[in-house]
Amino acid sequence: MRSAILVLNAGSSSLKFSLCGRDGSAMRTLLHGQIDALAATPHFVAKEADGTTIAEKRWTSAIGHDDATAHALAFALSRVPEGGLEGIGHRVVHGGSSFVGPVRVDAGVLAALEALVPLAPLHQPHNLAPIRALLAQAPDLPQVACFDTAFHHDQPAVARAYALPARITDRGVCRYGFHGLSYESIAGRLAEVDPDADRGRTIVLHLGNGASLCAMAAGRSVATSMGFTALDGLPMGTRSGAIDPGVVLHLMDAFGMDVRGVEHLLYHESGLLGVSGIASDMRVLEASADPRAAAAIDLFVYRIGREIGSAAAALGGVDALVFTAGIGEHSARIREAVCRAAEWLGVVVDPAANATHGPRITKPDSRVRAWVIPTDEEGMIARHVASVLAMGRP
Ligand code: ADP
Repeated sequence: MRSAILVLNAGSSSLKFSLCGRDGSAMRTLLHGQIDALAATPHFVAKEADGTTIAEKRWTSAIGHDDATAHALAFALSRVPEGGLEGIGHRVVHGGSSFVGPVRVDAGVLAALEALVPLAPLHQPHNLAPIRALLAQAPDLPQVACFDTAFHHDQPAVARAYALPARITDRGVCRYGFHGLSYESIAGRLAEVDPDADRGRTIVLHLGNGASLCAMAAGRSVATSMGFTALDGLPMGTRSGAIDPGVVLHLMDAFGMDVRGVEHLLYHESGLLGVSGIASDMRVLEASADPRAAAAIDLFVYRIGREIGSAAAALGGVDALVFTAGIGEHSARIREAVCRAAEWLGVVVDPAANATHGPRITKPDSRVRAWVIPTDEEGMIARHVASVLAMGRP
């Protein structure tokens, strides 16, 4: 590997990083890690691609995103190949209507991204913190912002619209969709895994702590289950997914809850955690004999089945399903249940292939094929950085 690209993914309490080595168009992860519990007792860990721990550090009191970023950068710089660090890519949740592809960041772009904070107040400020820190700490290091919304930007207007008055929708209230970097990474793999699906109609299920699905026609997003925010669509670890907006009105009217209270309920106390009362983590629920864990799993699968029907309608049929992210890549039980919920579409699951994670998990005569494909959001960001930087060269 001649040079490297650092990828940063900053959340409210953690900073994840990975260092991708690059040799021409060949790219591979050299190391990855994170600093978590930023606001309490931060813990830094870095691992080789094979999972071997290569560095660790603990702090006894909170550190800010600035210090966390400086630490991750210093560590990455100590490990870059001889060609040096070409640039840094950031996962940014919201690009609004103007940022429809990756962009090199300067002070002006940062200001434009800060103006989008009201669209994603729980995520955008944290995503931007390392960008701001690095513009100050290492102004000559190229930075590229990559957006979770961008992949969905070309959807038909009708798929993005809400049935609200123009005075509201004109101010940016529409369905943006998220997990776009994950979907883009899957779209990039389809040609090699399933060329017919690559040219045809595919429903990709990104099932992690956050969960959504994307209807893709010829590798492009035509519909997705998340909307204006990452709260919509499927139930998630702690997020409710779609609920009747009338419930929100009722919570405020009859329960006397204010906006922050409703926000906390829907983002942090609902989903798998809320229904089970046990955990947001699918592994814990699968291992539990408590009927409430089973009820949470049943609801998760039922809602996925309903959303698959909606996505199939948007596509006018389905050629393939793809499972990805933590649950999609690792839970044979959830995949089998989802495939059975999609039997009416022509999905015939192969339990033996599914138990060993495929990659193909349907029987040879299944009209609709189902696959397990690992997502690679970091790799996608690194490729975006390489192409944005290549465009800037004379
Ligand atoms: P994030 O959205 O935070 O990136 P991930 O994609 O890592 O999350 O997914 C986390 C989810 O994947 C958790 O619910 C976790 O329990 C689940 N998961 C990971 N491994 C397994 C497994 N072997 N079986 C079932 N669920 C799993």
